[in-house]
Amino acid sequence: VAVWALARRRGAGRDGPRAVLKPLPRHCGPRRSRGRAGHVAAPPSAEGHVGQAGTRRLRLGWAQDARRAGRGAGPGDPVHQLPHLEGWRAAQVGAGAGRGARAGSGPATRAPARSVCREDLWVRGGRILDPEKLFFEERRVADEQRDCGGCILAPGFIDVQINGGFGVDFSQASEDVGSGVALVARRILSHGVTSFCPTLVTSPLEVYHKVLPQIPVKSGGPHGAGVLGVHLEGPFISREKRGAHPEAHLRSFEADAFQDVLATYGGLDNVRIVTLAPELGHSQEVIRALTALGICVSLGHSVADLGTAEEAVQSGATFITHLFNAMLPFHHRDPGIVGLLTSDRLPAGRHIFYGMIADGIHTNPAALRIAHRAHPKGLVLVTDAVPALGLGNGRHTLGQQEVEVDGLTAYVAGTNTLSGSIAPMDTCVRHFLQATGCSVESALEAASLHPAQLLGLEKRKGTLDFGADADFVVLDDSLHVRATYISGELVWQVEEARP
Ligand SMILES: [Zn+2]
Repeated sequence: VAVWALARRRGAGRDGPRAVLKPLPRHCGPRRSRGRAGHVAAPPSAEGHVGQAGTRRLRLGWAQDARRAGRGAGPGDPVHQLPHLEGWRAAQVGAGAGRGARAGSGPATRAPARSVCREDLWVRGGRILDPEKLFFEERRVADEQRDCGGCILAPGFIDVQINGGFGVDFSQASEDVGSGVALVARRILSHGVTSFCPTLVTSPLEVYHKVLPQIPVKSGGPHGAGVLGVHLEGPFISREKRGAHPEAHLRSFEADAFQDVLATYGGLDNVRIVTLAPELGHSQEVIRALTALGICVSLGHSVADLGTAEEAVQSGATFITHLFNAMLPFHHRDPGIVGLLTSDRLPAGRHIFYGMIADGIHTNPAALRIAHRAHPKGLVLVTDAVPALGLGNGRHTLGQQEVEVDGLTAYVAGTNTLSGSIAPMDTCVRHFLQATGCSVESALEAASLHPAQLLGLEKRKGTLDFGADADFVVLDDSLHVRATYISGELVWQVEEARP
């Protein structure tokens, strides 16, 4: 076990603290596991991969609380009188080399910078634990281990743009917004989403004032995915590119712009992201003010040219809302907001993140590939899901509209007008993988690491590094979700896996 721990640590050092899944040289997995078979070797998988060259397996070890108070346990851990370690038996969390090759990530003989590898994952106090300390300092092992049956473990998905789902519309004011948010939070666990930003589209002031105080930042758990803060998309957006946002409620900034923003939203306490159009007058001062408060500014629903967009990034904007949708189309003499992906006028050491709706409907696969190949590290998968998410085929009443759902498309009933995305996050991950031919790791990072980096949470979320929150998904080879964990606790699992 110690050998594995060291191998993991070296991997983390080489790739920096943000590695989603640590690299290991292909040869080291099986060889090292044989050396310490008593502790490390997982039982042969049903697929018979064990012992085959290039096959890697992971185990998952669970440990709770430290023997000695204040040692190894993270802040907020429950203090138990007696030491208690709890873990799981041999989790097989690896991916064979064949998976990377199939995904077209390059020659199978060359280990990618970050790759799915066979390794143990340990958890204590809701965080991912460095087992080296456990073994050598505390001289302990896990009490309990669990076999993950050859599945992949990846950081939990983070959806930074979701308007509702399961009939719930976050932009509808009611006395009990909380129960709607809670319903969505619970149901998206089955999509592998462990935290999200409930998103409000352009709304009348009363809606902001009523709804926002009812959506506090909240940790995830068995009750549902964690709420990271609200994403306010509008109302300070372009009339021309408003899309489905109601024209009557659009606003531009008044002379005292930031006061206008505060008056509009009625407070920013629960707000994490604001999407605005940077071509509106006074927008640069608003961007600076929001950024100073730690709120992420995203550019979208906009007719901005590249120069204006670059100025907005210089002022602090870090995100682009659903790239390609609701902005000027790419033009070679003025590439508009899309040009930020390859701009050389961004602040040193910073790059732009951009949301992509990879449902196979809102973005053509060729456009998805252009964006991904130009700027893979900035790609953030978002669902931009509407309340029809999860309702199934048929006609549904949503707000003032009738919506016809057919597969992954939702039309305004009787028309050809798309009424929004209804693809779950895991569907977007699979489509993105298939459409771009990227590696499994890249697809998983686009739904986990990148949104975490966007929100400055990469030490806690979007990663399986030591010390990070133990929010993760268990995925089969085809990236279908088998189980979801938050803070080391099983919060959802697929029906047939239930006892
Ligand atoms: Zn939008």
